[in-house]
Amino acid sequence: MTLQPDARQFDLIPVAKPLIGEEERAAVDRVLASGMLAQGPEVAAFEREFAERFTPGRPVVAVNSGTSGLHLGLLAIGIGPGDEVVVPSFTFAATANAVVLAGATPVFADIDPVTFCIDPEAVAALLTPRTAAVVPVHLFGQPADMAALAALQREHGFRVFEDAAQAHGATLGGAPVGTFGDGGMFSLYPTKNMTAGEGGMVVLADEESARRVRLLRNQGMERQYENEVVGFNARMTDLHAAIGRVQLTKVDAWTAQRRANAAFLDAALAGIVTTPAVRPEATHVYHQYTIRVPEDRDGFVAALREEHGVGSGVYYPIPAHRLPSLREHAGADLPQTDLAAAEVVSLPVHPSVGADDLERIAAAVAAVAGAGA
Ligand SMILES: *Cc1c(COP(=O)(O)O)cnc(C)c1O
Repeated sequence: MTLQPDARQFDLIPVAKPLIGEEERAAVDRVLASGMLAQGPEVAAFEREFAERFTPGRPVVAVNSGTSGLHLGLLAIGIGPGDEVVVPSFTFAATANAVVLAGATPVFADIDPVTFCIDPEAVAALLTPRTAAVVPVHLFGQPADMAALAALQREHGFRVFEDAAQAHGATLGGAPVGTFGDGGMFSLYPTKNMTAGEGGMVVLADEESARRVRLLRNQGMERQYENEVVGFNARMTDLHAAIGRVQLTKVDAWTAQRRANAAFLDAALAGIVTTPAVRPEATHVYHQYTIRVPEDRDGFVAALREEHGVGSGVYYPIPAHRLPSLREHAGADLPQTDLAAAEVVSLPVHPSVGADDLERIAAAVAAVAGAGA
């Protein structure tokens, strides 16, 4: 771990950095001063404003995390014991965890190596009479191939629930993610494209499913002490919603900055490493800017950090079907998933990455890739 002389002149460029400003502090203060901290008017306003911005025309229900959102959303669209749910393995474990927590069985599908998203042909090969749902993940901020999944859905009749945890504002053919399926989830974890501290937003295709999510998040109650079903406490607090509402006013500018940063890196790194490919009909919101490093990826990551002060991340080093918690559900081999897990590196692309940082990142990648690290 010796620092090269160069690196000492610089602060490390982190791979993620939540942006919290005075407006967020003031909003939290306002809620604290009101004395009403738990779910209340701030959550209701946040749900409305979030739907207006990201999923117009569809009801949105706020919950305490993205994982809760997946879990309650799957339950609300009728997923349960005996059901198979096809999910990618190249994703955060929460995607498959939610399926298991709903009492269903995850069936892991391989990915499209170009987009890192679930491969519809792989999904088609895994469908059985028990397939109740498919959960595409809009990984790294790029929409999955929803048209191909819709074609399969028309043929087979399964439900589609979108894991849009990383894809606030991403579109496909002009339509926003979250509005393709029977439901979807956006995460508000601090490293995501916008945050509420913690939180998740569940979007549903119909009011009846939205009501079921509202019941499940609040002990099964719509009216106090008239519990209709057995539910959870998965409520969002007004403190969190107040932060989220402020972030909602900033996220479009941040997304524009992410996209501009990605465009710079695309140009600077072309021919040096495999840069992210974007489907022509898609708007990518670059939750992560993910390249492939086929040789000694871990050495590459270490050299970026130690020699150049450039942070990076590996999402995800162990695919879900190989995790101790989920490997009992592993099925057929997933060669593209295993290859991606061995090769991917995500470079800083978040809105705090400035012009000088971009130059440094590009120079560092060129130097380390050129050195054959
Ligand atoms: C972050 C994330 C989740 C879980 O969201 P939390 O808010 O952290 O619970 C689920 N799926 C994916 C793809 C994620 O990136």
